[in-house]
Amino acid sequence: MQPTMYADVILPVPFESFTYAVPADMQAVIGVGWRVVVELGQHKQYAGIVLRLHDHAPQGVAVKPILALADEAPIVTDAQLRFWQWVADYYLSPLGDVYKAAFPGSMKKGVQRPTRRRKKGTETPDAADGQVPAVLSPLSAAQQQAYDGIIASWERDGKDITLLHGVTSSGKTEIYIHLIRRAIDAGQQVLYLLPEIALTTQITERLRRVFGDDMGVYHSKFTDKERTDVYMRQLSAQPCHLILGVRSSVFLPFQRLGLVIVDEEHETSYKQQEPAPRYHARSAAAMLARFSGAKTLMGTATPGVETFHLAQTGRYGYVTLLQRYADMQLPDVEIVDIARLRFQKRMKGAFSPRLIEAMGEALERGEQVILFQNRRGFASFIECRHCGWVPRCQHCDVSLTFHKRTGRMTCHYCGASYELPTQCPCCETAEFQKKGTGTERIEEQVSRLFPSARVSRMDLDTARTRQQYEQIIDEFSRHDSDILIGTQMVSKGLDFAGVSVVGILDADTMLNIPDFRSYERTYQVLAQVAGRAGRKGRRGRVILQTRSAQLPLVQHVVDNDYAAFFREQMEERELFHYPPFRRIICVYLRHRDNDLLQHLAEETAVLLRRAFGDRVLGPDAPPVSRVSSLHIRKIMLKMEPTAQVAAVRQTLLSVQQEMMSRPYVANLHFYYDVDPM
Ligand code: ADP
Ligand code: ZN
Ligand code: ZN
Repeated sequence: MQPTMYADVILPVPFESFTYAVPADMQAVIGVGWRVVVELGQHKQYAGIVLRLHDHAPQGVAVKPILALADEAPIVTDAQLRFWQWVADYYLSPLGDVYKAAFPGSMKKGVQRPTRRRKKGTETPDAADGQVPAVLSPLSAAQQQAYDGIIASWERDGKDITLLHGVTSSGKTEIYIHLIRRAIDAGQQVLYLLPEIALTTQITERLRRVFGDDMGVYHSKFTDKERTDVYMRQLSAQPCHLILGVRSSVFLPFQRLGLVIVDEEHETSYKQQEPAPRYHARSAAAMLARFSGAKTLMGTATPGVETFHLAQTGRYGYVTLLQRYADMQLPDVEIVDIARLRFQKRMKGAFSPRLIEAMGEALERGEQVILFQNRRGFASFIECRHCGWVPRCQHCDVSLTFHKRTGRMTCHYCGASYELPTQCPCCETAEFQKKGTGTERIEEQVSRLFPSARVSRMDLDTARTRQQYEQIIDEFSRHDSDILIGTQMVSKGLDFAGVSVVGILDADTMLNIPDFRSYERTYQVLAQVAGRAGRKGRRGRVILQTRSAQLPLVQHVVDNDYAAFFREQMEERELFHYPPFRRIICVYLRHRDNDLLQHLAEETAVLLRRAFGDRVLGPDAPPVSRVSSLHIRKIMLKMEPTAQVAAVRQTLLSVQQEMMSRPYVANLHFYYDVDPM
C-alpha cells in the first residue's frame, strides 16, 4: 500500500488553503502548481491549485480526496506561487483571494478542460524568432541620453528600479519601445503595465507595429476566453515576449522575465480597491521583477510623492527627460480666477471669457479642444430649495447624482437608480434645484456657445464599455469631433495631434476631498490634462479656471515646477505623519448593525492600542460610512517605515482572531487596506 499523501489546495474562497487526500493513482504525477478538481462543502466543485504536498493527516476533520487533475501539466509556476504568497502576506489577504484575482473566472471552475501539453526542454522563449518587421523610430539625442541613463542605472549603478521622469510628450513611450526591443533581443520577456483606462488601441497599435504577434494584451474588459488564451500561451513553449496589460497581468506566468515597465506609475488606479487583495500593481510588479531577477522602469511626468522620494534618496535610479519630442514647447498655462468673474457676473455657465475666446480661436483654425471637468452627470446632486434636504441612497451614505439623459438619480457607489423626488420629506415643499456642474451640463453649455462645433463627451456614463471608450477616442483622433469633454479619463496618456487648447473648468473640486493625497492628485491630474495640449504643431494653451488662484499648488502647475510641489508635500507629510514618513495600514470592520459595529470597532482599537500605542487612530466612520446596507468603521495604523512588517501582520491577525472568536460576533467582516491610495 502506498503511503498517504495530502495536498494543501488553494481555492477561490477567502481562506489560505484546504487539505485533500491524493488518490494513489495520482501520487506519481501530481506536484505543486497543478490544478485539481475538488469538492468544497456538500456539492460545490472548484478547480484549486496545489500549494504543497505532505504526509501530515489533518486532525479531527474528514479528508476528502482530490477528484481529478484538471490539466496535463502544472499551470502555476513556483515563481508565481512565491509571488502570490508575497501578495497575500503584504496585503493581509488570504491566498484564496489572491488566486481569485490571479485567474480568469472560468479557469477556477471545477470542470476538466483540455489544455495544451508543454513540450519538454522548450520552456524558455526562443530568442531567435524575430519574424516581426522591426520598425523602430530612431531616438532623438535627448531620448538616447535618457535611454543610456536608464541602462547605466541598472548596469553601472546596480539599481533594480529606475524612475524615468519625463515631461508630457517627451517620448517616454518611444524609449520603452527601444528598451523592450533590447530585452527581447536578449531572449527576455517584458511586462508593460498601463493603468486600466489608458490601455487603448492607440498604444496597442503603436506597439503592434513593432512587435506584431509577439505581443499579448491582457485587459479586464477582455472575455474570459481571451484572457485564458493569453494565460495558457504564456505557459506554453511559445510564449509572447511582450505582455501589455493592466494591473492583473502581474499574475500571468513568465518564464524569462527581464524587464517590467510601469507606465504612468503615479496612477492611483494601479491600486485595487475592491475586492481583496487590495494590492498596488506598481509595488507588486516591482516585487515580481525582483523575484525574477528582472529590472523595473517606472515612467511618468508627475511622479508619486513616495516614488520620487525613493528616487531622491537613491533607492531607485533616476533619469529625467525635460524636453518634449521635436522641441515642442510645453503648453502655456494661464490662470483664470473664476471667483472674481462670478462676482462680476462675467461667467457664462462654467465658462470664463478667456476660455470662450481661446476655444473660439482654436476652432476657427480647425484645431481641437479638450475640456476637463472632474464630475460626471448633469448636476452633482439635487437640493430642496427651502430646507436644503439632499436625496441620498437608501443603501449607502452618499448623495445621489442626477442624470439628465435618463431623468433619474443614481448612486455612484452601489449603482442603485431612483426616480426624482416629487416632494421634500423634510419640509414637504416641492421645489428642487440642481447643484454642481457635471460633464453632461457642460456639454449642453458648449452646444449653446459653439453651435456648429462637434462635441464628444467621455465619462463613466458614455464610456461604459471598452468599445464605447475606444469609439470616442477614435472619433476625436480622426478629428470627427472638435471638442472632447471629459472627466479624469481624458488625462490618461492619450496622444492627440490636433489639440491646441485645454480648458480646466474647475480645478478646485479635487482639492476639497478630505484625504492626505488630494493635493498630490490635483497636481497630477492638472499637469497631465494640461499635457494633452500642443503635442504637435502649435504651442498648446491651457486655461486653468479656479477659485484658488492664490494657492501655491496652482502656481506650481503653471510653472511646471514639480520640485516645488514635492518640497511642499514632503513638509506636510512629515508634519502630519503620512507616507513616506509613515506606512499606513487601514483596518476596516463592516456590519449591518451600526451600534454593535461601533462597539466592536472600539474594542478592536483597544486591543490594537495595547500593541501599537498611539500609532492607532480611530475608529472613525469613513466619509462614505455605509455601502450596500453595511456600516463601516475604519481604524488607521501609522507605522514607522522601519517597522517589521511580519510582526505587525502577526499582531493584526491575532487581534482579528480574538475579535472574531467572541460569541456574539456574527457576520462581522474584517479587512485591511495596506498602503491605501
Ligand atoms: P510621452 O509618452 O512622453 O507622453 P510619446 O511617446 O507619446 O510621449 O511621444 C509624443 C509624440 O512624439 C508621439 O506622437 C510620438 O509618436 C512622437 N515621438 C516621440 N519620440 C519619437 C521618435 N523618436 N521618433 C518619432 N516620433 C516620436
Ligand atoms: Zn425641504
Ligand atoms: Zn448606494
